[in-house]
Amino acid sequence: MITQTKNTQDKLTPEDAHQILVEGNERFLKNMKTQRDLQEQVKQTSKGQYPFAVILSCIDSRVPVELIFDLGIGDIFSTRVAGNIINTDILGSMEYSCKVAGSRIIVVMGHTKCGAVKAACENVELGNITSLLSKIKPAMDIIKSEGIDINDSATKEIVAIKNVHVSIERIRQESIILSHMEKVGEIKIIGSIYDVSTGKVDFFESPILSKINNNLLNEEFPSIV
Ligand SMILES: [Zn+2]
Repeated sequence: MITQTKNTQDKLTPEDAHQILVEGNERFLKNMKTQRDLQEQVKQTSKGQYPFAVILSCIDSRVPVELIFDLGIGDIFSTRVAGNIINTDILGSMEYSCKVAGSRIIVVMGHTKCGAVKAACENVELGNITSLLSKIKPAMDIIKSEGIDINDSATKEIVAIKNVHVSIERIRQESIILSHMEKVGEIKIIGSIYDVSTGKVDFFESPILSKINNNLLNEEFPSIV
């Protein structure tokens, strides 16, 4: 996979960007890592960056974003915070990534066995962690309101999924810039869950690629196919 340039970024649609991530995770699962000269990529990206995606994920050490999508330097804006929650600084980072720097897709990625979700479900209170966990509580409250026992370990995985949906809704409601870009098709905003037991990313929806875009991918990203 080549280093992203203005040219490759301009040609990508949000669906193409989604497909690159799907195929990257497939290579990761098959242990077929793309050969990259990272030092060369440092040189190539030194004068500018043209990442195709912004990925909001948890700080969990088992979720190293570039590795699980088999990506290199300059490919994505990796935005990480415990529990993949939304706040104004993260929204500002996403607005920069998409509106200023041209990224085509926002992926909110939760994960299984998330300590932040577990702590929120258990009402942990400790220093600044309390404030952070309060942003996961809305997802927990929705699950509780459906009469589901929040203390069950399987339920915490449902809260993690709901938490991704809550973050996506907050992006749409609290960022006029990003919700407009999504409405006019300039970007896609999607959710996903990473399974720390298997290494698989499950997207909540699949990419829809046209034949033309497939050809584009083959040309610009020869190592993907
Ligand atoms: Zn986590």
